[in-house]
Amino acid sequence: MRRRSLRLRLLVTFGLGAFVLSSMFASLTYFGVQRLLIANQQQTDLRQSYVNAALVRSTLYTSPPQLANLLASIQKATASFVLVQTHHQWLARSNPAATKDVSAAIIKLVNEGHATEQTLNINGEIIFVVGVPIPAVETQVFEVFRLNSLEHTLQILLFVLGAGALITSFIGMSGGLWVTRRAVRPLEEVSRAAAQIADGALTTRLAVTRADREVQQLGESFNEMVSQLVQRLERDARFASDVSHELRSPLTTLATTASVLQQHRPDLSPAGQESLDLLLADLSIFQSLVEDLLEMARSDAGAAPLVMETVRAIELLRQSVRSAAGHQALSEPTLEIEPGVDDPFVKVDRRRFERVITNLIDNAHRYADGAVALRVSRVGEQLAINVDDAGPGITPDEREQVFERFFRGRAANDRGIARGTGLGLALVRDHVRAFGGTITVATSPEGGARFQIVLPIVEGDPE
Ligand code: ADP
Repeated sequence: MRRRSLRLRLLVTFGLGAFVLSSMFASLTYFGVQRLLIANQQQTDLRQSYVNAALVRSTLYTSPPQLANLLASIQKATASFVLVQTHHQWLARSNPAATKDVSAAIIKLVNEGHATEQTLNINGEIIFVVGVPIPAVETQVFEVFRLNSLEHTLQILLFVLGAGALITSFIGMSGGLWVTRRAVRPLEEVSRAAAQIADGALTTRLAVTRADREVQQLGESFNEMVSQLVQRLERDARFASDVSHELRSPLTTLATTASVLQQHRPDLSPAGQESLDLLLADLSIFQSLVEDLLEMARSDAGAAPLVMETVRAIELLRQSVRSAAGHQALSEPTLEIEPGVDDPFVKVDRRRFERVITNLIDNAHRYADGAVALRVSRVGEQLAINVDDAGPGITPDEREQVFERFFRGRAANDRGIARGTGLGLALVRDHVRAFGGTITVATSPEGGARFQIVLPIVEGDPE
């Protein structure tokens, strides 16, 4: 299931919460006010209709021909319909449309001599009917009130409450946004700082503000944890560096002694010669292990100086290939530069860059009978340097592991190559990362291994 962001969830919760609450409040208000308004209006209408019925009765007693005028003036004054029924017949003045609103049930009750009232809702229109009997002349007076003005008021109320609910929801969402920002920002800062530290920026710390106690605590604890970790790393690195350093002098003495012995090789017995060869081979491994460890420990402790320079990439690459090949007395691999790549600038430490290229060419020589070519191409704003060989390649499951410290892969075991410490590619990756680049391994066009270094291209002249 796709996980939604905390920010979005908080925002939706606040917005929805505000909407539900304001809608509930609006509905309660609407129905409450509706009941109250109708009840009030009915009270007034009821009183009015009794007065009107009394007027009808006195007109019927005194001058019945005046009834029509009376009904007309009442209707004009109250905006209602007054209907009069005598001997079960509606008087001519009664409005035929309005008579339909007077139900048989109310007529029956009034005929029986009960004053009655009834509220009807016909197609959303609220109608209030009051029936008053005048038994002396066998007449019933009905008055039909249409509560149109009330409906209009209620519609306005509904509109105002709806708009209020929407505005409240919007305010709720804005409040949610504000709270979310305050709550999530420290988390984002912690995760950003943690990612930077994981990328090697060990001096990264959180800015501790005194605004919120919890956030301040989080920042202080995080910084304390990072400081302790860094101290520990430095202690370990210093220890490794000291050990490697201490091993260097006895190793040099051993190597000198071994080379003296080597000069007297012919004087040794065959068994002695064999032992000397073994000693020389192991000494060489030991020496390169100590050198690699020392370099790694220095770089971990931040003691190895990183001298970043803006240099012309192809020119530096050519020099590095030449020196790498010369170093091991190997034949120089060809440099293939994709058309359109015109010696861009990159920012690197020259010495470390040379070590990276030497190491990759050396590995290609050791595991794949030499590099076929170094191919340079441009990938967007970046420069890709591919060191390709035609050897056994590296299987997908080992492509990440080969960059781990002390990892020795299948190629090393298959070939029974004793020399090698498993530190070379780990150092290479550290160096490339220090340049702000990446290194990955894939398959070369020849089917062997392709080590691809990607470096950002920088602008400007190296003065
Ligand atoms: P080492 O060479 O000392 O073993 P590295 O870190 O240089 O250590 O290399 C790690 C492993 O990666 C090697 O043991 C080997 O299995 C594999 N590897 C490196 N380069 C190549 C290559 N060009 N072709 C095949 N395998 C390689």
